[in-house]
Amino acid sequence: MTKLTSSVNGHPRAASEPIWEYAPAPEARNIVKIQPQYGLFINGQFVEPQSGCYFPTLSPSSEERLSEVAWAGAEDVNSAVQAARNAYESVWRKMPGKERAKYLFRIARLLQERSREFAVLESLDGGKPIRESRDVDIPLAAAHFFYYAGWADKLEYAFQGRRPEPLGVAGQIIPWNFPLLMASWKIAPALACGNTVVLKPAETTPLTALLLCEIFQQADLPPGVVNMITGDGETGAHLVNHPDVDKIAFTGSTEVGKRIQRSIAGSRKKLTLELGGKAANVIFEDAALDQAVEGIVNGIYFNQGHVCCAGSRLLVEESVYEVVKRKLKRRIELLRVGDPLDKNTDIGAINSKAQWEKIVALTQTGVEEGATLHQSSCVLPERGYWFRPTFFTEVAVSHTIAREEIFGPVLAVLSFRTPEEAAQLANNTRYGLSAGVWTEKGSKYLAFASRLKAGVVWCNTYNKFDPASPFGGYKESGFGREGGVHGLSAYTRVG
Ligand code: ADP
Repeated sequence: MTKLTSSVNGHPRAASEPIWEYAPAPEARNIVKIQPQYGLFINGQFVEPQSGCYFPTLSPSSEERLSEVAWAGAEDVNSAVQAARNAYESVWRKMPGKERAKYLFRIARLLQERSREFAVLESLDGGKPIRESRDVDIPLAAAHFFYYAGWADKLEYAFQGRRPEPLGVAGQIIPWNFPLLMASWKIAPALACGNTVVLKPAETTPLTALLLCEIFQQADLPPGVVNMITGDGETGAHLVNHPDVDKIAFTGSTEVGKRIQRSIAGSRKKLTLELGGKAANVIFEDAALDQAVEGIVNGIYFNQGHVCCAGSRLLVEESVYEVVKRKLKRRIELLRVGDPLDKNTDIGAINSKAQWEKIVALTQTGVEEGATLHQSSCVLPERGYWFRPTFFTEVAVSHTIAREEIFGPVLAVLSFRTPEEAAQLANNTRYGLSAGVWTEKGSKYLAFASRLKAGVVWCNTYNKFDPASPFGGYKESGFGREGGVHGLSAYTRVG
């Protein structure tokens, strides 16, 4: 370890103060073999798309073309749904729960065995730091398969004497922020309950979902139980509107979620939506402030703010507002922005050019509307899509940056005087996915948390997940729950 005086290994030095810098510690990239081209995974095999079309997937940290993947048109979606229907009728719905469980356990174990491969691929394709993909995404994905494997033969106990039946074919559409984890959140409970699946990953991050298909082959999962169709919004719309799909599970933007809800209204399809968020992190004056600031940083900057439950609004009690602001300013200077494959990196690349442009535009709006901008002075790599850790003070509740989901490392800081005002500010949003409370008093956080209209409220921590805990939103953050025993309801019909 050396004391740094200039930029090193893509981890530029903060201009205002010297920081202790680590030697480069890149994870070996060659652990994962990326094919030059991927077909669609239908009926247990990779097949060429009937559409004849492919599209590239890039690494957002280098703009390097990693591979090209098939684009599924209406006919391809139809083949995938047919394969899922056949597997449902002929094998999966009839299989005893304890047999289904064995497949889920096997998938979980294989994910653990190949976890480094998955972590490297996730960071390459999505831009997130390897520390996050290695320590959060991949272990949690395996944990979801383990957890739901445990439920597969105990479903009648989950519904207290009522008989749960699978729904049939589940169409699942996921976003780019946690590609493998979102796929696992969706696939594991669906399979545990006896459904079969057609899943569409996001267009910018298809690679770990496709690697997961190799695991399905290794685990000898019966053909057609899970089918993977890569493509864009049009592919997703074909899946949503397919007449032989019984259930749609969607995670993504509120705008697309509303469109999906409209297009299946009146059909027999069951729907769960996990949409946007504008979470408030609330710091009371009695909180352990250093710990709170660390939690705020974890909640908005790690993973580039690419989390629907990101703590993108910070509400600070007025008496500690200046202290928190100072600590935050110092802390963002110390965050290391750079190569996602380096184990010392705190903040990786923004997932795509389109997302980067959106973050830039919303940040510009923040400045134009009169809020004060604070940004880390770090130097960004020349290639790829990057954004400095940023926060705004002098923010009014009417400002766009206090209302709109930015989905980037940008925090809006406001102050409050009383718990009533804090609750009112925290709930003053069209979303209701998550929130955080920081106080040393147990009675205070319990009382305060119960006033927040959010699916999850973390106390003295943030962004903590467990497969046994349900996750989902209020208001325009969607409906239905994923995870835990609640997550089984989304994939069953109870008699
Ligand atoms: P984000 O803003 O996070 O990219 P989107 O809602 O645009 O979120 O995308 C989330 C997922 O929804 C992606 O897999 C995308 O391809 C898919 N998608 C986009 N538009 C539609 C649509 N009209 N119908 C179904 N899926 C869609």
